[in-house]
Amino acid sequence: MQVLILAGTTEAMALARLLQEHPTIVATVSLAGRTKKPAPTGLPQRSGGFGGVDGLVSYLHEQGIRAIVDATHPFANQISTNAAIAAATTGIPLVTLSRPAWQPQSGDHWRIVPDLYAAAEALRSLGQRVLITTGRQELAPFANVPEKHYVIRTIEPPDKPPELPYVRFLYQRGPFDRMAEATLLETYGIEVLVTKNSGGEATRSKLDAARERGIPVVMVQRPPRPRGITIHENVSTTLDWLEHLAP
Ligand code: NAP
Repeated sequence: MQVLILAGTTEAMALARLLQEHPTIVATVSLAGRTKKPAPTGLPQRSGGFGGVDGLVSYLHEQGIRAIVDATHPFANQISTNAAIAAATTGIPLVTLSRPAWQPQSGDHWRIVPDLYAAAEALRSLGQRVLITTGRQELAPFANVPEKHYVIRTIEPPDKPPELPYVRFLYQRGPFDRMAEATLLETYGIEVLVTKNSGGEATRSKLDAARERGIPVVMVQRPPRPRGITIHENVSTTLDWLEHLAP
C-alpha cells in the first residue's frame, strides 16, 4: 500500500523509521523544502510544494497513494488544509499525526496570543530583553516593536531578517536541555520568552527554565485544524491505523 507522509516534524521522522522495510506499506516522505540539509529518513523522499490542492490531488492519483499521514508541524496550516480538501476530494483516508500542545503548569506566567502580530504587541507591556523561538519564517511582526533587545534563536538563518536595532541571532538545533536553556536565559538576561505552542519534548525545557526563573512566556496558540480530521497523538497509533488499512 502506497502512503504519503507529509513531513517536517520529529513525529514524521519517527514514523518513517518504523516504516523502513515494512512488508506491506511503501511510504514516501514529502518535505516542503525549507530546510537546506534535511536529515535522511531511509524512505523515498520528495521535496517542494505540490502546487496547491489541485497539484496534490494529481500527485495522489499519479502515485497511487492509498493513505495520507499529515505529520506536518501544528502551525503548518496551509498544507494541512490542502491535505484535508484533497483527501475529501479523492476519498483517500487521512489522519493527522500531531503531538499534544503544551499546557501551563503551576508557576507558569503565560500570555496566550492568537498569532505572531499579537505576540509582538504583547511585548510592549513586558520586559526589555526578549528571547524569540518562533522560527525563522515569520519574524516581521517584531519589527513593529523595535525598542526591545532581541535574541532570536532559529535553526537556520532567516531569509529576511527583521530590521531591528538591537538583535542577536543564534543558530541552534534542538533538542535543548533545561540546564542549557537556563544558561541561555541567564547569559542574555532574558526577561520574556516568545514561543509557539509546538508541543513535544525536544524544545519544552525552555518553558521549565522560564518557570524556574519566573520569566513570562508569550505563548502563540495553534491555528485551528481543519474540521472532522482524526488526530493521532503518537506514532504507534498511526502505525496501527496504516496496518489496519494495508491489504
Ligand atoms: P504551510 O504554510 O502550511 O505550507 C505552505 C506551502 O508549502 C503549502 O501550501 C505547500 O505548497 C508547501 N508545503 C508545506 N509542507 C509541505 C510538505 N510537507 N510537503 C510538500 N509541500 C509542503 O507550511 P509552513 O508553515 O511553511 O511549513 C513548511 C514545512 O516546515 C512543513 O513541512 C512543516 O511541517 C515544517 N515546519 C513548520 C513550522 C512552523 O512553525 N510553521 C515549524 C517547524 C517545521 P503547495 O501548496 O505548493 O503544495
